[in-house]
Amino acid sequence: MQPLIINAAVTGGVPTKDQNRNLPYNPEEIGMSAVECWREGASVVHIHARTDDGSPTFRKEYFQRILDVIHAEDCDVVINFSTAWAGGSAKTWEERMEPLALHPEIGSYDAGSLNVGAGVFDNTHPFLEALATRMNELRVKPEIEIFDVGMLGTVNRLVADGHLSADPLFIQFILGLGASAPGTPKQLMHMVEMLPPNAVWSVGAVGAAQLPMNTLAIVLGGHARTGMEDNLRFRRGVDASNPMLVERVRTIADIHNRPIATPTQARDMLGLRQLRKG
Ligand code: ZN
Repeated sequence: MQPLIINAAVTGGVPTKDQNRNLPYNPEEIGMSAVECWREGASVVHIHARTDDGSPTFRKEYFQRILDVIHAEDCDVVINFSTAWAGGSAKTWEERMEPLALHPEIGSYDAGSLNVGAGVFDNTHPFLEALATRMNELRVKPEIEIFDVGMLGTVNRLVADGHLSADPLFIQFILGLGASAPGTPKQLMHMVEMLPPNAVWSVGAVGAAQLPMNTLAIVLGGHARTGMEDNLRFRRGVDASNPMLVERVRTIADIHNRPIATPTQARDMLGLRQLRKG
């Protein structure tokens, strides 16, 4: 089995410190949390930026401050910047794509729209084509986030028309949101069976579904996304922290004799070095 890529999604754009004081807010806290996750075994960090008061932002100077912290610690973790809507804080396509100007190795790519609260997390076909074009120009690998089965049909279309490269596809299932597929073994298995053979897949799930979905990925040969973007509790009544969540995934992998990928191994599995050279 391939070494396990642990993806750490450290803050997202929705949770607040009122829900859990361990949540990193400002760029320095987010950068240090990414470094702590890397020390615990994460090879990829999924980064949303926030301003100093914790509000979600897409302005690249905040992403740069996060990178400065990570680089100051000689941390070679793979950087994945979010292009998601973050609670509606980004109003235009250009705002959402602004962090890509810093050339992260990976950018998130949400392969369809979803109802969230009273709003719509909108990822229309024209936006997805524009985002794929921008990522191709900047040689940023799309982390294709799949919330439901129909989004795999969208991905097939985008591969067929040349917007997405299947070399390999990097699929991140995000399950257990209200309007997404539930975070259950049946749902995950169904979608994994639909993937093309060379896809590299990982799964994150919201709340209490995070732990069983991460465990299933370890057993099935997929990869795992953990972190406080998706889950704020270590167990009922116990607040999580990002390093605690990563350490738990690493321990479960160890119990199952699944080695942990280094950032270099993750780059090889995801085709990142070839992308930069090509
Ligand atoms: Zn995210």
